[in-house]
Amino acid sequence: MPKPVLLTVDDDPEVLRAIERDLRGHYAQKYRVMRADSGGAGLSTLRELKARNNPVALLLADQRMPSMDGVGFLAEAMDIHPQAKRALLTAYADTNAAIDAINEAKIHYYLMKPWDPPEEKLFPALDDLLHDWNSQFRPPYEGIRVLGTRWSSRSYDLRDFMARNQVPYQWIDVELAATDPEVRRLIESLGPELDKMPLILFPDGERIAEPSQQVIADKIGLQTHAQTNFYDLAIVGGGPAGLAAAVYGASEGLHTVIVEREAPGGQAGMSSRIENYLGFPSGLSGGDLARRAVVQAKRFGVEILAPQEAVGVRTEGPYRIIKLADGNEISCHALMIASGVQWRRLEAPGIDQFQGAGVYYGGGATEALSCKGEIVYVVGGANSAGQAAMNFAKYAERVVMLVRGDSLASTMSQYLIDQIKETPNIQLWTHAGLAEAHGETHLEEISVLCSDTGKTERVPASAMFIFIGALPRTDWLAGVLERDERGFLLTGPDLMRGGERPKGWTPDRDPFLLETNVPGIFAVGDVRHGSVKRVASGVGEGSVAVQFIHQYLSKV
Ligand SMILES: Cc1cc2nc3c(=O)[nH]c(=O)nc-3n(C[C@H](O)[C@H](O)[C@H](O)COP(=O)(O)OP(=O)(O)OC[C@H]3O[C@@H](n4cnc5c(N)ncnc54)[C@H](O)[C@@H]3O)c2cc1C
Repeated sequence: MPKPVLLTVDDDPEVLRAIERDLRGHYAQKYRVMRADSGGAGLSTLRELKARNNPVALLLADQRMPSMDGVGFLAEAMDIHPQAKRALLTAYADTNAAIDAINEAKIHYYLMKPWDPPEEKLFPALDDLLHDWNSQFRPPYEGIRVLGTRWSSRSYDLRDFMARNQVPYQWIDVELAATDPEVRRLIESLGPELDKMPLILFPDGERIAEPSQQVIADKIGLQTHAQTNFYDLAIVGGGPAGLAAAVYGASEGLHTVIVEREAPGGQAGMSSRIENYLGFPSGLSGGDLARRAVVQAKRFGVEILAPQEAVGVRTEGPYRIIKLADGNEISCHALMIASGVQWRRLEAPGIDQFQGAGVYYGGGATEALSCKGEIVYVVGGANSAGQAAMNFAKYAERVVMLVRGDSLASTMSQYLIDQIKETPNIQLWTHAGLAEAHGETHLEEISVLCSDTGKTERVPASAMFIFIGALPRTDWLAGVLERDERGFLLTGPDLMRGGERPKGWTPDRDPFLLETNVPGIFAVGDVRHGSVKRVASGVGEGSVAVQFIHQYLSKV
C-alpha cells in the first residue's frame, strides 16, 4: 500500500518549507509528506489522490491565505477525503475564528504559529490525531479499478475479458453515485475524464478510457506476440482440448505455442461449476480449471498468445503456417486446430440491440452479482443453461428458464435436473420461446411465445442469458481443410470415402485418427466433426493427438 499522505497547505513559501521540513523529519518513515502553495492547488492534489485510491491521513492548512482561507480549504477537502484529520494553523489574532471553525467546518484541531519547538507544540497534537486516524483506517483496494455503467456493452465486454484472463479488478458502477458517497467522491475527482467510459484506473496512476483488448493486454503484461517464428507444435484455441495438447506436447519436449483469440479456458472457462470432470468430486469452476491448466502449460514452457487470433492457414513443403490477425505469421511442423464452437445467435427483434445491456450469450459469471434481487431469464435447456440457472439462483430473486420442449429430460444431465428441482427460486417455463426483447437503453421486458397456447406474454426482465447451442467458426480454414455442412472439421476415418484417401493426400498411409485432410494438421475437441462436447473428451483428444504428432514428426 502507498504511504498515507500528510498534506500541508500555505501560501507563504518560508512557512511552507519550514512545516514541511518538520513534518518530514518526524513522519517521513510512515507517511508521505506533500505540500501545496494554495487551497486550489491542495484540492487538485486531493482529487488526484482520490482517483489513485491513495489514503490521506492529515491535512494541515494555514488560515490566512489570499484566495481561499484555511477553513474554506478544509471544508472542501472534507468532501473529497472525509476520513482525513483536519488541522488549522493560525496566528494568535485568528484564535476566535479557529475556535468557531472547529464547530462549523468540523476541524479537528488548531495549532498556533510559531510551533517551535515542534516536539512540544506540533508533534504531540498531530501524533494524537494520527493515532485516531489509524484506529479507524481501512486500507483501500489497491488493484485495477474499472469504471463504467452496468448497461454498457463495452463495459461488459471489458469486464468479461478481464475476468476470463484472470485479471483481478474492482468494478465500480458509476450509476451508484446517487446512493454511494464513495463512488460520488471518486467521480467528482475524475471530472471530465469520465466522459469516455469504460475507464480503467491502474494502481500506478495511469488511466485509460475505452481501452482496446490489445491495450489492456500490453499494460497488464499478457503475451500477444510470439517469441520466435517457428515452433514444433502450434495450437489454435486455448480451451480444454488445446491446453491439454499443449501440456502433453510441451512435457514431451515439443516447442509449443497456443494462439487464443479471447482468453485461455475456452467455453469451459465460462462454466460456473463443472461437476462431472474426473478428480474433482465437489466440482470446480471453469475459471479455476483454466487457471490451473494455464499454470501447468506455462510450467512446461508453453507460450500462450492471448488475445491473438488465427485468421488464415497455408502449407509450404513440410511447414504449416498460420496467419495472425496482427499480420504476423507463425510457422510450425505440426498444427492443431482446437478452436471449439461459439454460441449460436438468437434471432428475435430487440436481441441485437440489447446485447451486453441485459442480453448476454453464455458467460454470466461477470454479471451474476449484479443480478441480486432481480428476475433473470435463462434461455435454453442444455447443461450449460442448467449450470447458469443454478449459479444465478444464488443471487437473483427468481430465475426463469425458457425451454422450447415440454421438459429438460432429453437435453440435460439428471444431476442438474435434480438440483434445479430442489432450488425453489428456479422456475421452469416449458413450451416457451423468446419472441421479442423490449426496453429503452437496456433490457426491461421480454415477450414470450407459448407454443402450447399460441399466446404471447409480455413480462418484466432485467437480464437474459442465452444458451442455445453452438457452431464452429471455421470459415478461415475453408479451401484448406475439409469441413462438414455445418463447418465442423473432418478427421481420420471421416475423410475416407469409399476407401479412398482425401484428395491431394500424399503420405503412404491413411490420415491418423485426429488428422485432417492436410498431413500434419490435426483437429481436436468441439470443432471436430462427431466429437463429444465435453471437457473430458476435449482433454482426451488433445492428449491423444500428441501421440499422432510424434508419429507424424518422425517422418517429416
Ligand atoms: C456454460 C458452459 C458450461 C459447460 N459445462 C460443462 C460441464 O459441466 N461438463 C463438461 O464436460 N462440459 C461442459 N461444457 C462443454 C465444454 O466446455 C466444451 O465441450 C469444451 O470447452 C470444449 O473444449 P474445446 O477446447 O474443444 O473448445 P472451447 O472450449 O470452445 O475452446 C476453443 C477456444 O478457441 C478459441 N478460438 C476460436 N477460434 C480461434 C481463432 N481463430 N484463433 C484463436 N483462438 C480461437 C476460442 O476463443 C476458445 O477459447 C460447458 C460449456 C459451456 C459453454
